[in-house]
Amino acid sequence: MTTRSETQSTLDHLLTEIEHRNPAQPEFHQAAHEVLETLAPVVAARPEYAEPGLIERLVEPERQVMFRVPWQDDQGRVRVNRGFRVEFNSALGPYKGGLRFHPSVNLGVIKFLGFEQIFKNALTGLGIGGGKGGSDFDPHGRSDAEVMRFCQSFMTELYRHIGEHTDVPAGDIGVGGREIGYLFGQYRRITNRWESGVLTGKGRGWGGSLIRPEATGYGNVLFAAAMMRERGEDLEGQTAVVSGSGNVAIYTIEKLTALGANAVTCSDSSGYVVDEKGIDLDLLKQIKEVERGRVDAYAERRGASARFVPGGSVWDVPADLALPSATQNELDENAAATLIRNGVKAVSEGANMPTTPEAVHLLQQAGVAFGPGKAANAGGVAVSALEMAQNHARTSWTAARVEEELADIMTSIHTTCHETAERYGAPGDYVTGANIAGFERVADAMLAQGVI
Ligand code: NDP
Repeated sequence: MTTRSETQSTLDHLLTEIEHRNPAQPEFHQAAHEVLETLAPVVAARPEYAEPGLIERLVEPERQVMFRVPWQDDQGRVRVNRGFRVEFNSALGPYKGGLRFHPSVNLGVIKFLGFEQIFKNALTGLGIGGGKGGSDFDPHGRSDAEVMRFCQSFMTELYRHIGEHTDVPAGDIGVGGREIGYLFGQYRRITNRWESGVLTGKGRGWGGSLIRPEATGYGNVLFAAAMMRERGEDLEGQTAVVSGSGNVAIYTIEKLTALGANAVTCSDSSGYVVDEKGIDLDLLKQIKEVERGRVDAYAERRGASARFVPGGSVWDVPADLALPSATQNELDENAAATLIRNGVKAVSEGANMPTTPEAVHLLQQAGVAFGPGKAANAGGVAVSALEMAQNHARTSWTAARVEEELADIMTSIHTTCHETAERYGAPGDYVTGANIAGFERVADAMLAQGVI
């Protein structure tokens, strides 16, 4: 029987190896640290998990594809971007995870997202493996025609690696309904097949699931509500700060409002808006989803209750709840200290890894309920898997049915994380609970399927 400290030193050694074998990938290192630093109790307690090679296999993607994406802009100039798909782990089902189009995308970022996705997907209880992809293409300021040509070129390579039983991409930053439409069109054209389950987040009229656009934000609010219930409180009357103004942020604000909370902020890379009366979602959707504008336009059109703060940190706004919904490492130690000073009760991650490790530590030390993204934002991928199920059965469910399933899944993820944390001596620590519960499910499947 190995002790917990012996196990931890083996895991620490492995983390050093990961850094050597994957140079210049700080986000992937961060994601690996965050998981491996919590696994000692379960690896020490269950000797089969200490089997040589198990965790080494888990941290090495099954397949990584990188490719050239050439396309022509509206002036006829040839542009060249880089495309990625990291197929990380398929022990539980076809690789599943979004595509991100953002200039900050590189292999390390995609690997961090793919690694997180393994555990997140396991936590949903559904049959989906982990993967992620994307490109350093920046859709901001591009015309529809340019975005279409880019998506077509991207899919002209990606199509040979994906399939409804192999790998099923979806959206992420910079990839919404418009991009999924162009990508699906090109896949259908190249393969001459109606294979609706090859992508999720499709339009309602052609295979998309109702509630998929809403699912990540709604799910995160349900997770936050479950954490608050553990503290004997609900969301009614609570003030919430939300970052971002994309898919996740918009539907986070929508659900918060529906449950009686007051969501007073949103942001983008230009700055943030604070609106004392609560964010007017019709106006925000019009600016962001229809006009594809910036958040300062919201403050200009909203009137006296709202102001735009260029640059600045949205976490300076006092609130009971914080729901980071933009991007990785957007909530650092200073921001966490400010939130704590202002009396924050819960932080629930809509984005992937938005809170730095130092900030997570600070929040947990201060007794703030902290919901890690791999649990709190799993609603999106869960409804993606429900979209695959509907596609497979050639049917479509009502919005009420999908929402009910989403609520059940989020409740079950919360319970699993909570109980697992208690079982391994870390009550109230959702990070440990999520990592161990996700790990157990994937590791059991990998052990059963042999050394592959
Ligand atoms: P969108 O592209 O719809 O919106 C992203 C938002 O975040 C925009 O407001 C954007 O502002 C802001 N943002 C992105 N990068 C930065 C940056 N580097 N600095 C400041 N602001 C930034 O993406 P989503 O809403 O889909 O995704 C948001 C987060 O949620 C991501 O971390 C994603 O991985 C995660 N997530 C998404 C899921 C989904 O279903 N879509 C599922 C699970 C997690 P700007 O326009 O100025 O760049």
